[in-house]
Amino acid sequence: MSKKVFLQESEMPTQWYNVIPDIPGGLEPPLDPATGKPLDPKMLQAIFPDPLIEQEMSDKSWIDIPDEVNEILKIWRPSPLVRATRLEQMIGSKARIYYKNEAVSPAGSHKPNSAVAQVYYNKICGIKKIVTETGAGQWGSSLSMACCFFGLECLVYMVKCSYEQKPFRRSMMQAWKGEVIPSPSDTTESGRDVLKNDPDCPGSLGIAISEAVEIAAQNSDTNYALGSVLNHVLLHQTVIGLEAKKQFVIGNEKQPDIIVGCCGGGSNFGGIVVPYLRDKLDGADIRFIGVEPSACPTLTRGHFAYDFGDLAGLTPLLKMHTLGSKFVPPGIHAGGLRYHGMSPIVSALVRDGLVEPVALHQKECFEAATIFARSEGIIPAPESSHAIRATIIEALKDENKDKVILFNLSGHGHFDMTSYDKYYAGELHDYNLPEHELAKAAEHLPKL
Ligand SMILES: *Cc1c(COP(=O)(O)O)cnc(C)c1O
Repeated sequence: MSKKVFLQESEMPTQWYNVIPDIPGGLEPPLDPATGKPLDPKMLQAIFPDPLIEQEMSDKSWIDIPDEVNEILKIWRPSPLVRATRLEQMIGSKARIYYKNEAVSPAGSHKPNSAVAQVYYNKICGIKKIVTETGAGQWGSSLSMACCFFGLECLVYMVKCSYEQKPFRRSMMQAWKGEVIPSPSDTTESGRDVLKNDPDCPGSLGIAISEAVEIAAQNSDTNYALGSVLNHVLLHQTVIGLEAKKQFVIGNEKQPDIIVGCCGGGSNFGGIVVPYLRDKLDGADIRFIGVEPSACPTLTRGHFAYDFGDLAGLTPLLKMHTLGSKFVPPGIHAGGLRYHGMSPIVSALVRDGLVEPVALHQKECFEAATIFARSEGIIPAPESSHAIRATIIEALKDENKDKVILFNLSGHGHFDMTSYDKYYAGELHDYNLPEHELAKAAEHLPKL
């Protein structure tokens, strides 16, 4: 196969693949925390448009991608599938390594794949403004861009410490007309509450979600959007795996034996992996490896239980792997992987033994990122470096001789160079989460 395989625009997927009906053990429904009973979808109408609520619960295997969405995705899609020959040489790989390059989107990650779809459905439902939270800034910038394209206003609550540490992500949002407020703020009840007790609070994703949901729930022309975890987000990300499948055919290569992705909320991993699930269920010998940071080991050490998606407990209860919604992950640099929960779909696939979860420390991931940058040129996002490290581990095993490994390069790291600086200065440390901290966080799991 040549170094890169491109698809024609005419070969882009026209439907998303909905994995829900194919999950062997099924998916358990979200629960209303007030009653402990399955959630009435109507309760979501205060913050989400109907088509997204439908997708969230859908049992149809294929869902049409609207032309208006695909027209915008065409700005950077189809994304290239690249053979990492120079990486293979540098590490002495036994396997052939390929990566799907999602860093080519304008925002620099896979997140616009869902942002564009979510904003489109809000627009056709008459919504004028979308409010969201962002940690590292990847989701806030993706949503700002999508809102700018469709003429909606975008308001982003950005975790205050990131707001101060990552001024260029903030600038990107402003370039796409997004309004950015550091959280906690005095613009919401939940923000004011926090500030009253702790005026210098650095903020957290949990607080920012509460602020965003509060604004969305109060204004009928305003909705909320989430960048990962939920079923409809994972659905939109299936374009990644669907494209890859075609690219292996066109490139005259066998389909991958191993697929690797990093897991924050599970959307980029789910997006590349689930289009291959039916093949695996039909007997194909294919492994799915989901990689998380050891400092936030949701899949490898968390509980599979019903839990809230946010700190304040405003969201429905989701059945997922979780460290407890009160868990505050230590400040590792892969900001996008610092989430206490996990996509219910990815969680169910781990439960059913179809996905192998792996946890890695940050220093070995930055080392892998550096090897990748010095062989293939691209400086990966710290999140994506987890997938690269796991790929290198597999590529060096004798048992994987002549196998094909595909990993998802979920984004580039151009706005994360301070983390690289710290790594090169020897200032990054690995963190072993003690068992008693996990136990403490789990005490707050809701009792049903
Ligand atoms: C947000 C982000 C992630 C983690 O989110 P998932 O939903 O797990 O994909 C991974 N990589 C990058 C570059 C991100 O921006």
